[in-house]
Amino acid sequence: MKAVIAYGDGYSVCDNCLTPFRLDYIKKPPIADFHVDLAAWLGMAEARVVPGARRGFQAVASTYVEKGDPVLVTALSHYTEFIAVEAAGGVAYEVPADETHQITADAAAGKIEEVIRSTGKTPKLLFVGHADYQFGNIHDVKGVARAAHEYDIPVLCNGAYTVGVMPVDGKDLGVDFIVGSGHKSMAAPAPSGVLAATAERAEEVFRTTEAHGDVSGRSFGIKEVEMMGCTLMGVTLIGMMASFPHVRERVRRWDGELENAAIVLDALLSIEGTEVLSEFPRRHTLTRIDTTGSFDRVAKTHKKRGFFLSSALRKRGITGVIPGSTRVWKYNTYGMTRKQAVYTAEAFTAIAEENELALR
Ligand SMILES: *Cc1c(COP(=O)(O)O)cnc(C)c1O
Repeated sequence: MKAVIAYGDGYSVCDNCLTPFRLDYIKKPPIADFHVDLAAWLGMAEARVVPGARRGFQAVASTYVEKGDPVLVTALSHYTEFIAVEAAGGVAYEVPADETHQITADAAAGKIEEVIRSTGKTPKLLFVGHADYQFGNIHDVKGVARAAHEYDIPVLCNGAYTVGVMPVDGKDLGVDFIVGSGHKSMAAPAPSGVLAATAERAEEVFRTTEAHGDVSGRSFGIKEVEMMGCTLMGVTLIGMMASFPHVRERVRRWDGELENAAIVLDALLSIEGTEVLSEFPRRHTLTRIDTTGSFDRVAKTHKKRGFFLSSALRKRGITGVIPGSTRVWKYNTYGMTRKQAVYTAEAFTAIAEENELALR
């Protein structure tokens, strides 16, 4: 917050923008170093900051997709992936999830074949979520990328729910692009994010302008077309940079986060009638559960109806669960201390007992 206040005014990082005049070359503050560090941290060759994950999707779609081109997303994709494809004039097709809500390499290969058969064209690009926003399941990005590469389709891994909270290595995943969201998982102000690419794909997506003025004769140096020259020119970038040392440190504590998630989920599952809809055991802290057979039975006769749950939680100082939800809902334990996780777990079982639900 101190960094945000210090850099809140205008083009605040541009005072020391010297030739060749581009954001990622600025040395003071150390923006150039930050770009190098970001790329290395994600196991990729190049990185650029962007105003949100969606702008990363858009830059990549705009590079590869032309009017009418098929593009693969998945049945668990975020709406911003669809819009990036639409904005580029492409047509999105979904790789289906299996009955366990996983996106598999087989499903990707099958969908590629199906699209080729039905449209006569090979998809120009494939988007795959690392962890999806509905179930928080971790998908086989490596297998999906391998399948897509058999057809020379570039692969973008959407790390909105992983980059900044758990270790992400693009090289190991074998993807062409990794996109992260600054304001979602990187403890940064909105709108911010990162687009990282392999060396080969960086040349395509981070190509420089060839425009020139026919009257003035001007040309525009090394400004990148998809980045509109420069992107985060002040407070958002400084916010990302200020948080980065903490973010880099905290991804190493992911195992502890998963332990906290397990403590809370075990308590919920100890309440008879509760089912987990996410993969189990959990590999992410975002979890979808079904309490139709437990908390929703209470809601049917409680005078506060479905609001009894959020209300009982609030009384214990726990917020974040959507008020009124007692059937299918999701929650995220990320960032809790162990003590808070244990407290939350005990709160759920205590609320169950108060309302005469049986514990298994
Ligand atoms: C939030 C979200 C996005 C969009 O991120 P922005 O940084 O706000 O553009 C993309 N994908 C998933 C899965 C998300 O949850």
